[in-house]
Amino acid sequence: MANPFDLSGKVALVTGANTGIGQGIAVALAEAGADVAVAGRTPPDETQAMVEALGRRFLPIAADFTSIEPLPRLIEETVAGLGRVDILVNNAGTIRRADSVDFTEADWDAVMDVNLKSVFFLCQAFARHVIGRGGKGKIINIASMLSFQGGIRVPSYTASKGGVAGITKLLANEWAAKGINVNAIAPGYVETNNTAALRADAQRSADILARIPAGRWSVPSDMGGPAVFLASDASDYVHGTILPVDGGWLAR
Ligand code: NAP
Repeated sequence: MANPFDLSGKVALVTGANTGIGQGIAVALAEAGADVAVAGRTPPDETQAMVEALGRRFLPIAADFTSIEPLPRLIEETVAGLGRVDILVNNAGTIRRADSVDFTEADWDAVMDVNLKSVFFLCQAFARHVIGRGGKGKIINIASMLSFQGGIRVPSYTASKGGVAGITKLLANEWAAKGINVNAIAPGYVETNNTAALRADAQRSADILARIPAGRWSVPSDMGGPAVFLASDASDYVHGTILPVDGGWLAR
């Protein structure tokens, strides 16, 4: 019987995968058989070594997601370098922390531009390509617990991740019949640069851990299996879902 999770012959474009969750997902997709392009502002040397050690091809693409200008080029460069693009993982994201009474317009715009505006317009560029060539495409956006909950001192991040969940469902409605699956993974609390400030605060860190039924913080590789599922034929009838991968956090 064919393996429905096999990604052999597929090409994935993952944003912000030099580190953290993006790296965990890029490596998992490569383990499942995909070749991988990584777009971001820091050279993804470590991820490249990990993917190539698995015998997969790797393409680094320089891009800064504070502007939507580079986005159509990312699709073109992936196709030029690796022959095709089947899977898009919108992972790059940023966060700014401050009390809402003090929160600045600059911190609002910086987060919304990377976490929401660029996500939408890269989905658009990918969909134009897939619809133009025909066949299937898979989009995986990275949402958050703050797609469901309010959070504290992260107003633009919460707004952006609520927005990611919203556009994931909207785009699924528009593109499911066109051969594109649009879904999201909502990670729980993952040990990455994004959560360094939380983990440095002993009280916050302990409070968070106490609420996680799995009894531990997540590591980036925890997102790999769910990403392979949403990138593969196994999820062909899954559209517009926001999949929590949270050690049970939301069930608590
Ligand atoms: P991370 O280690 O800080 O990784 C973030 C990635 O996004 C890095 O590759 C970063 O590049 C890239 N990035 C940020 N701003 C960018 C920009 N303007 N242009 C290009 N690349 C940019 O954090 P992470 O936790 O793995 O975050 C990955 C995704 O998961 C984000 O969308 C985040 O919101 C989401 N998430 C994280 C958690 C968690 O607990 N960690 C939970 C839920 C959701 P640089 O290395 O160059 O900065």
